[in-house]
Amino acid sequence: MSLTKQIVIALIAGVVAGICLTFVPSNIFNNIDTYLLSPVGQIFLNLIMMLVVPIVFVSIVLGTAGLGNPAELGKIGIGALGFFLVTSAIAIAIGLGIGNILEPGKEGVFETDATFEGEEAPPIMDTITNIIPENPISAMASGDMLQIIAFAVFIGIALAILKEKTIGIHQLFEQANEILNWLITKIMYVAPYGAFALIASAIGGAGIDALSSMAMYMIAVLLSLLIHGTFVYGSAILFLGKANPVTFFKGFFPAMSVGFSTSSSNATLPISMKTAQEKLGVKKEISSFVQPLGATINMDGTAIMQAVAVVFISQVYAIPLSLTDYLLVILTATLASIGTAGVPSVGLVMLAMVLNQVNLPVEGIALIIGVDRLLDMVRTSVNITGDATCAYILSEREKRNTHTAN
Ligand code: ASP
Repeated sequence: MSLTKQIVIALIAGVVAGICLTFVPSNIFNNIDTYLLSPVGQIFLNLIMMLVVPIVFVSIVLGTAGLGNPAELGKIGIGALGFFLVTSAIAIAIGLGIGNILEPGKEGVFETDATFEGEEAPPIMDTITNIIPENPISAMASGDMLQIIAFAVFIGIALAILKEKTIGIHQLFEQANEILNWLITKIMYVAPYGAFALIASAIGGAGIDALSSMAMYMIAVLLSLLIHGTFVYGSAILFLGKANPVTFFKGFFPAMSVGFSTSSSNATLPISMKTAQEKLGVKKEISSFVQPLGATINMDGTAIMQAVAVVFISQVYAIPLSLTDYLLVILTATLASIGTAGVPSVGLVMLAMVLNQVNLPVEGIALIIGVDRLLDMVRTSVNITGDATCAYILSEREKRNTHTAN
């Protein structure tokens, strides 16, 4: 059976098992989770996370060196940033629109006296100045993606310029790339088991009480994610990439399901890059630069959740939002995503920052936290699909340009 089929089965089985587990008494669920689901899930997660930093570093060095000239990298970078910004703004607008149409905060009784301590998201200027790492080793140790990208780009440029003089190191990177690729192919064989365990554990642990009172909020987030994930990305692929969206979604599906089960764009990177390169034919130089960059700075799914959550909280607390507030939400939610890494639940940290901007109570997060783990799974899939869509479009355009030039 193909790996994609196995992953689809694991996905469905994980969801079904998770739903069944919500009916099991909590002490039994805790035992199943502690001794079976969590360890299996965690081993899979560790296996792929173990490769994130080396893969990102090695492939960006090789990608940059392969482009040959830094201007080429600038062109890709500008294209990617433009795509990321526009799609994030569209995502937030969809979330705000659906939130206002479905009005999830107007029905039902919500406990508004709950408390929540918001964490501070990093100021945007700090993020920008910190892109250049003071210490590349510590950037790698802490998995700071933007700093790793910057360091790798510098090394790649140096390799491209020094050519013959550094041929040995270049070959070393190529061989390291072979090793990492081999490892990731092997790790993918355990993906169905890992995905099953992670999904069953997350859904089983969510509890149905939280689900019922928050149903409308969840529907609003999921509907917005669906519209954005299919319609917006689909049209972008069709019109900007002049390619078939169905081919894209079919090919990229295994990575989407790993994003779904891990709830982490960063952890999914090795698999999403490999899938984009091998199944969709995205050029290595583009994929290895655009996807890690996107995992950190482009999170459309997260932006959607923030938009719906802002509308929801404003409705629950009956604090109306003005047009300026809406524009402020678009601006802050886009900026907030730039400085935060693609790890589970980071969207809530960004949400605290957005709520502060429009003077909504940060305690409102306490209302949505119970169902956030489940929504995190779906929005992470959308997040990584957005990065891959961008890489795919840029690669298709590049291929066409080279073709016409020849
Ligand atoms: N888990 C998401 C990601 O890694 C971020 C979030 O929305 O919390 O992309």
